[in-house]
Amino acid sequence: MTTSQPTAAAPDFDVVIVGAGISGIGAAHYLRTEHPEKSFTILESRHTIGGTWDLFKYPGIRSDSDLYTFGFEFKPWTDDQSIADAPRILDYLHEAVADDDLHDAITFHRRVIAADWSDADQRWHLTVAHTDKTSRAKPETVTARWLFSGTGYYNYDEGYTPDFPGQDSFKGQIVHPQHWPEDLDYQDKRVVIVGSGATAVTLMPAMAPDTEHITMLQRTPSYIIPVPREDPIAKRAMRLLGDERGFRLNRARSILQQRAIYQFCQRFPSAARKVIRKINAMALPEGFDVDTHFNPPYDPWDQRLCAVPDGDLYKEIRNGDASVATGAIKTFDATGIELEDGRHLDADIIITATGLNLQLFGAMTLTINGEPIDIPSTVAYRGAMLSGVPNFIMAVGYTNSSWTLKIGLLCEWFCRVLSHMDKNGYVEVRPVAPRDMETRPLLDFDAGYVKRGMHILPRQGTKDPWKTTMSVAHDVKNLRKGAVDDGLLRYEKAHYEKAKEPVGAHA
Ligand SMILES: Cc1cc2nc3c(=O)[nH]c(=O)nc-3n(C[C@H](O)[C@H](O)[C@H](O)COP(=O)(O)OP(=O)(O)OC[C@H]3O[C@@H](n4cnc5c(N)ncnc54)[C@H](O)[C@@H]3O)c2cc1C
Repeated sequence: MTTSQPTAAAPDFDVVIVGAGISGIGAAHYLRTEHPEKSFTILESRHTIGGTWDLFKYPGIRSDSDLYTFGFEFKPWTDDQSIADAPRILDYLHEAVADDDLHDAITFHRRVIAADWSDADQRWHLTVAHTDKTSRAKPETVTARWLFSGTGYYNYDEGYTPDFPGQDSFKGQIVHPQHWPEDLDYQDKRVVIVGSGATAVTLMPAMAPDTEHITMLQRTPSYIIPVPREDPIAKRAMRLLGDERGFRLNRARSILQQRAIYQFCQRFPSAARKVIRKINAMALPEGFDVDTHFNPPYDPWDQRLCAVPDGDLYKEIRNGDASVATGAIKTFDATGIELEDGRHLDADIIITATGLNLQLFGAMTLTINGEPIDIPSTVAYRGAMLSGVPNFIMAVGYTNSSWTLKIGLLCEWFCRVLSHMDKNGYVEVRPVAPRDMETRPLLDFDAGYVKRGMHILPRQGTKDPWKTTMSVAHDVKNLRKGAVDDGLLRYEKAHYEKAKEPVGAHA
């Protein structure tokens, strides 16, 4: 080391995890167990953990994945519900925080608003704002060697609502599921839900018993399939094999099942369509117009399938409390919604289950040496890092199966990179994309929020390790077993000298 090198004190943390949702909590576990010597903190802009599972408060809020795959690989899901409601998921996450003793590692009411990587001292400089309304504290700076973005994929402040003509003339209440009023009274009211996705099919059966009538109004139908809320085979496995082994078996079975269903749908779309149609026709009342209301124009799994636990949605349609209307909205008016075909849906409450606004990295402004990173021109490396961006992990999970299956594998890979760096004395790593590499969109998913937000997403390559697939089997090779020194990652040692700590600087 030459004496002309600049000096720098140690960064505040080895890793800053942004977000205390399921991804951030999972990442903290991997760091605690694989790298107990590393210092880390979780900065969370809200008042509590759980992210998605705490934010949404609408009736019936639940997963549509089974929890054997949505739960952490390291923490058995032991509840009887395999499709679980939000309070159970939150309990599980609180337990995970306690198991790993993470309470002191999480700081709430801290939003990371900007992150600047500095080549001079090879670390991130984060600008962190206080979000507690009572706080007058100015934004502070936190430095970290690594930035782990566990911020989810959508804007927490505002859901997506298109501008409906005439909506101001509606005399009732308009509610977006992302901003559910806790005191919403829908007892004996006529409710129309606009939308046909996972949220709409959850809300409809949850609210139907209390409303006068509830209608799900959709422009185009989604594929809907019944799934058991409690899986009898999984429960038996847990009973016979115990929590650990039973969970492992259930998780493996679920992964295979999800993969088989997805591949069947992709390879044999017309057969898949027929099977789903048959299941729906059998569950719906005699004479129900399945082809209008349950027959989407796209192939199964071009968009996420909607799961309905124990067929609850069909039950409410059968007993007459709920119905489906398919058609385009002409206008909202004082008493409800008029459709293009002249029908009118009377409503006291309209719920706009119209989706999310895609948002990357929790709206953090990312820069390198003060220069903005143009995210759409970056390419994802192993679906975990971005080309040209040092020491940055993005926790973007699967969209066609449980999000978290990917996050676990990604954390394993991250921990192996850290070990490789420690062993070789590196402090910095960035993926370097080959010049003129062919690229394509990061997500090949047809969902509305993805189409609306495509322009803000990074790209992916067409060959490994630049591909971001939605396949667990691929990512077991790519992440769990994938190289950490494949020549595409540029590692660097510190090019500054560590500042000497003043004697007695730390207790
Ligand atoms: C209603 C609903 C149901 C879903 N059901 C499923 C399902 O069944 N299966 C499935 O696989 N996926 C499902 N998803 C997708 C789901 O969001 C993810 O699977 C998973 O919960 C994401 O976890 P996460 O921790 O990555 O992100 P989130 O749960 O979104 O948590 C992100 C956290 O980061 C914090 N944060 C964001 N930006 C900042 C910042 N700048 N500074 C500090 N903190 C920040 C947020 O406050 C939040 O706490 C669902 C999504 C929704 C909306």
